[in-house]
Amino acid sequence: AKHRAEAVVVDDQTPAHPGVEVSRLQLADELHTAISTAQLVLWFQPQLHVAPAGPVGTGGRTTTVAGCEALVRWEHPDRGLLGPETILSAAEHGRLLPALGDAVLGMAVAAVGGWWARFPVPVSVNLSATDLGDRRLPERVHGLLQQHHLPPWALTIEVVEDTLMVDPTRVAEVLRDLRDMGVGVALDDYGTGYSSLSYLHELPVDELKLDRSLTRDLATNPTATAIARHSIALAHDLGLRVVGEGIEDPEALDALVALGCDTVQGYLTGRPMPSAAWTTWLAEQAAPVLPVAPAPIPG
Ligand code: C2E
Ligand code: MG
Ligand code: MG
Ligand code: MG
Repeated sequence: AKHRAEAVVVDDQTPAHPGVEVSRLQLADELHTAISTAQLVLWFQPQLHVAPAGPVGTGGRTTTVAGCEALVRWEHPDRGLLGPETILSAAEHGRLLPALGDAVLGMAVAAVGGWWARFPVPVSVNLSATDLGDRRLPERVHGLLQQHHLPPWALTIEVVEDTLMVDPTRVAEVLRDLRDMGVGVALDDYGTGYSSLSYLHELPVDELKLDRSLTRDLATNPTATAIARHSIALAHDLGLRVVGEGIEDPEALDALVALGCDTVQGYLTGRPMPSAAWTTWLAEQAAPVLPVAPAPIPG
């Protein structure tokens, strides 16, 4: 709890720009510098496996670290900590989306490479339509994983529905290459778009992330519960894991566990944290690894 508190000293929400509104062009210009001067950083938010435990009906559960999501932040020298909305809009205006995607991917793989020997905890990275439309992406991913001596399952790529529709054929191809390599693919923000599962049998996706708009009202809204229950059942039938996003209260967590959701992510179980706080958090979670003595040879 100590480090969770530490992690929220700076909130992960984009603060309002102090003083005068900065022009988009200027921000785009500054982003160009930021990318090459390490002002861009990744924060990490835990994703936890949850399973009911103990006597039935007691609400007992066990959690284990399943992975984390990398979320980009900009430590701006004058404007404070900026979030993805500002960063992405600046990138779009400055035609820096490819540079941003490249930087984020590189940082994420380097980060997981840094903790992997101590904690084999995979990272999920949000990539844009621009990134997924680039046929060279799988090769770049392959190179990065090799460079950091990582297995492919150390990385999951998160995509939103819109991304799949920009250039469906090419995006499907890129995703398939990544998937064939063993890299994970997650469909993010499920429940915010058309949320048609019809394309899931054509697309190489292995994880579905239920958006906060679906998980928020689970404890109180029967419609939300019905949608979540059926989404989880369908996802499971299709062989996908389900991650519940934006879990802030124990009631929503309990409801998701009851519905069979595999993994949860939210402020309740862990805020996004700067990388030092994240590895400290990991060290605190990890059960001590006890050496298992070989079974004695009979006789
Ligand atoms: P997302 O991928 O759905 O990420 C989850 C967002 O929900 C994050 O916001 C996270 O801080 C926030 N969140 C987590 N738990 C809770 C909770 O319990 N309650 C609430 N209300 N919110 C919660 P963040 O970091 O501001 O990112 C917003 C979006 O920006 C992300 O949504 C993702 O679509 C995009 N994004 C973030 N990092 C990157 C990046 O490196 N590259 C790209 N292309 N997009 C990014
Ligand atoms: Mg995401
Ligand atoms: Mg999401
Ligand atoms: Mg989102």
